Amino acid sequence: MPKPKRKRRNPQPSEPEADESLCLPQTAPLQIRYYGDPVLRKRAQPIQEIDDAERQLAEEMLMTLYSTGNGIGLAATQVGILKRFIVIDIGEEDDEDYEPLLLFNPEILSTEGEVVVEEGCLSMPNITADVKRPEKVIVAALNPRNEKIHIEADGLLARVLQHEIDHLNGVLFIDRIGSLKRQFLISDLKKLQQAERPF
Ligand SMILES: [Zn+2]
Repeated sequence: MPKPKRKRRNPQPSEPEADESLCLPQTAPLQIRYYGDPVLRKRAQPIQEIDDAERQLAEEMLMTLYSTGNGIGLAATQVGILKRFIVIDIGEEDDEDYEPLLLFNPEILSTEGEVVVEEGCLSMPNITADVKRPEKVIVAALNPRNEKIHIEADGLLARVLQHEIDHLNGVLFIDRIGSLKRQFLISDLKKLQQAERPF
C-alpha cells in the first residue's frame, strides 16, 4: 500500500531510504505484480517454518518496498510469491527507534469500530478510493525469529495491516468498495490491465 497522499508531510520528493544493514549485498528488489496478473487473486499458503530462505525473502521484500519510494506495506503475493508474509514500514523519518514489521502468517484476531479512509495499492498505481474498514485490529503473527507476536493497531497501521492481509487472500481494496464506485474506476483499471510494463 502506498503512503496516503494527504498524510505526506514533506512536499519534496525524497529518495527511498533503504536501511543498508537489512539488505544483503546480493539482495535486489523483486518485480511487483500489477492489477490483471492472476497471481494477485490467489490465496497464499501458510509458512511452516521460518528459516534462512524466509528471512532472505523478508529482506528482498523490504528492499522492494523501499524501492517504490512511497510504499508503506507489501504482501508476498504482490511479488508473485504465494506465502503468507507481509512487510510494513510506516515509520516516521524522525523516529530512530522505529523498526519495520516483518510478519509471517499474519491473522486478524479481532476488530473494532469502522472508518472510511482513502486507499491505494502498489499493484494498482494511481488508483485510489475510499474504503470502509474496521478502525482497530488485533493481529497475531510470527516474527523472523519464529516468535508469536500480537499487534494492537489503530490509525494507519491498522489500515495497512488489513490491506496487506487481504492480499494474502487474493482480495484487493477495490473489492471492498461499492459497485457504483467501482464503475467509476473501470476505465482506469482496464488501462492498468493492458499497460505495458517496464519488465
Ligand atoms: Zn495493495
